[in-house]
Amino acid sequence: MNVVVFAGGVGGAKLADGMTRSTDDASLTIIVNTADDFELYGLYISPDLDTVMYTLAGIANPETGWGIAGDTFQNFEMLARYGVSPWFRIGDRDMATHLLRTQMLRNGATLAEVTHTLSRRLGVKARILPMTNDRVRTVVDTDEGLYAFQEYFVKLKWQPEVRSLIYEGAEEAEPLPDALRAIETADTIVIAPSNLYLSIDPILAIPGMRDAVMNASAPIIAVTPIIAGEAVKGPAAKLMRELGSEASAAAVAQHYAEFLNGFVLDERDAEFQPRIEAMGIGVLLADTLMRDADDRARLACEVITFADRLRPEKMGGCKLNAPTPAQSPSSQPTHADR
Ligand code: GDP
Repeated sequence: MNVVVFAGGVGGAKLADGMTRSTDDASLTIIVNTADDFELYGLYISPDLDTVMYTLAGIANPETGWGIAGDTFQNFEMLARYGVSPWFRIGDRDMATHLLRTQMLRNGATLAEVTHTLSRRLGVKARILPMTNDRVRTVVDTDEGLYAFQEYFVKLKWQPEVRSLIYEGAEEAEPLPDALRAIETADTIVIAPSNLYLSIDPILAIPGMRDAVMNASAPIIAVTPIIAGEAVKGPAAKLMRELGSEASAAAVAQHYAEFLNGFVLDERDAEFQPRIEAMGIGVLLADTLMRDADDRARLACEVITFADRLRPEKMGGCKLNAPTPAQSPSSQPTHADR
């Protein structure tokens, strides 16, 4: 079974990890947001690609939601000795990823090629694809002025009130042919519980991507990033309110309504089921909070089985593998703590 997941960072990484744990049958392609990418000290940093790659490689830091478990920060201490106090922290091992990626890009490799090489070397079996090889950057228009994404998110800890978001470069960017083919031939397409404006919309803003999703024959299912009116982490609910929407799971379903066949609604939000069904979208009620590896696998399996219900020709759903140990986040981290 071919499964395609649209993802940002942590929410998408956890669900994709659940997919790889829950079933041996699925061949998984994850299309990842790169509109948060930026350069620091001349290094090319791709936060969402790294979160997905580290999570699937089993080396992600579950406490922070970014970086590598057990990493040290000696480079950071040395920078401090030089009198630099960086607002964006990079661990020593994490730094190796940025060094190699930057070198490979300078030598002419595409971001997709670099991602393929790095993730294979970390033993990741799933296919991780950047949304484009071109440069797209989210610019945040706030009551305090325009900010580059990482400045808004990490430096200002997403406090300024947002008026609009600009995905600079998206109109000229090209999707990867591999991503379009994966969408076309998918058996199941999943919009991960990721930030709708900061992670999923930039992917859909790449010309050809939304059309590919609209024309896909596979059932398209979104998993809610909002539970009881709040984001599990990060600014999704705050942004929804600031951009004039209601901060609710129903509003998330509405946001994706034109292409959605199914919506995974948290059981704490059961009251919204009739409203979402009235949009012509099937609803699965589930515990969508992924606290540990078992939660990830269970939710992924439920999503795959739900997709089967929405498909005319059944593929047998998902048979849950025996649980495998994984890191269990003790808190809900956010990149803004970086
Ligand atoms: P980021 O780039 O790391 O911030 O990650 P994402 O774009 O993946 O966005 C995180 C979004 O996923 C937030 O809106 C969270 O509310 C949501 N999220 C994170 N973990 C979970 C989870 O375990 N369950 C659900 N339902 N949503 C989650």
